[in-house]
Amino acid sequence: MLQKREYKFWFCTGSQDLYGDEVLEHVAAHSKEMVEELNRSGALPYEVVWKPVLITSELIRRTFNEANTDESCAGVITWMHTFSPAKSWILGLSELRKPLLHLHTQYNEEIPYDAIDMDFMNENQAAHGDREYGHIVSRMRIDRKVMAGYWKDPVVREKIASWMTTAVGVLESSHIRVMRVADNMRNVAVTEGDKVEAEIKFGWEVDAYPINSIAESVKSVSESDVNALLDEYYATYDMILDGRDPDEFKKHVAVQARIELGFERFLEEKNYQAIVTHFGDLGALEQLPGLAIQRLMEKGYGFGAEGDWKVAAMVRLLKIMSDGKKDAKGTSMMEDYTYNLVRGKEGILQAHMLEVCPSIADGRISVRVKPLSMGDREDPARLVFTSKEGRGIATSLIDLGNRFRLIINTVECKKTEKPMPNLPVATNFWTPYPDLYTGAEAWILAGGAHHTAFTYDVTAEQMGDWAELMGIEAVFIDEHTTIPQLKRDLKLGELFYA
Ligand code: MN
Repeated sequence: MLQKREYKFWFCTGSQDLYGDEVLEHVAAHSKEMVEELNRSGALPYEVVWKPVLITSELIRRTFNEANTDESCAGVITWMHTFSPAKSWILGLSELRKPLLHLHTQYNEEIPYDAIDMDFMNENQAAHGDREYGHIVSRMRIDRKVMAGYWKDPVVREKIASWMTTAVGVLESSHIRVMRVADNMRNVAVTEGDKVEAEIKFGWEVDAYPINSIAESVKSVSESDVNALLDEYYATYDMILDGRDPDEFKKHVAVQARIELGFERFLEEKNYQAIVTHFGDLGALEQLPGLAIQRLMEKGYGFGAEGDWKVAAMVRLLKIMSDGKKDAKGTSMMEDYTYNLVRGKEGILQAHMLEVCPSIADGRISVRVKPLSMGDREDPARLVFTSKEGRGIATSLIDLGNRFRLIINTVECKKTEKPMPNLPVATNFWTPYPDLYTGAEAWILAGGAHHTAFTYDVTAEQMGDWAELMGIEAVFIDEHTTIPQLKRDLKLGELFYA
């Protein structure tokens, strides 16, 4: 996986000096203990760093500005152990630029019925202090995550872990650089978009290179490097000759090995983490990059076909957000191809001409060499497989002319009823929520594209939170979606994001 930075999260506890030093000592000791236990639990993907208790406007402002300038800080977790007058938070909050979590918890789980007195009440009043603090954050219209629950509860820890991933997605978004070696396909609408606005909103740099500059890099790969990678392919995948001569077959596969190495070197040298290609603009390349792109996606690169740079950046973003996830099931670019409309068995067959990431594969992966029905190049080698079952999300980032919208459809991936021996591409098959018909109608009403960035490993909630922090509209299509409600959501979005 392409590397991202090592991130940490700051834990900032709020209080005030009215209660005397002893209470403040307890507040500090309790919050330290909470941070230590959170780190020890192993439930969080990133380390939490304890910060001295915040009691004055000056200290809050200074701490939040340190969080801004510390490159390793991916977000700030705030919690009011006691009451903390919220005007003290105004200056700090107005300057904070890192993702913010308001963890609404308290040190003790149960009311100590026998011992409770007014001293205890003053020291443990998050129910009270967190409302004062929450009010000012809402009044200042700051987007943040609010999470209520006991800090030792595994469900709460899971939620914190999930938010951390989103926060890292927000930070890492501005390190995504997309290389375009082809413009988007002629006359196609959904792969277009405002690249300047994308850099302003998401921090994405999207640059173009002549296709033949990367083709040069492919050409310069040595024979021995190609052969070493070919050995790896032959050791990893099942080769399905489909009646071809073994040597001729191998030559086709070798072209993809050379493309993989040449592309990877060019991307690394120029510091890009995502790439687009287009089957109609291949310059000196002998084949449409298929197997090569599939393997680059598996290594963590974003990819968009037919010049689709928005999908390339989204795939990379999802790769970052799912990186390190336990039991991750994969992330890929996808395309809606064809339906099964049999009642009770409805679904959409997902594929692309070639470029589906093997991270989503279920079981053995084979290599096949088959003609493309489009373009004018030799038959490309590609990895062929079916995908894992289970819940995932299909996302589509669209440009509405004056703004971006992110559409997030929860989908249920399944096995097709029967194998498809004549289809020489990798596939997935899913039923969108709430059902195929409502899901497809909602997707079309929202303006969703036919290309998607798909993942099993990031949730709709995480992507909605990411969109909120990017300042764009998120439209959810899930088990709760009805068409009248969706239409109202879209109209409200037009008002709010206009
Ligand atoms: Mn396509």
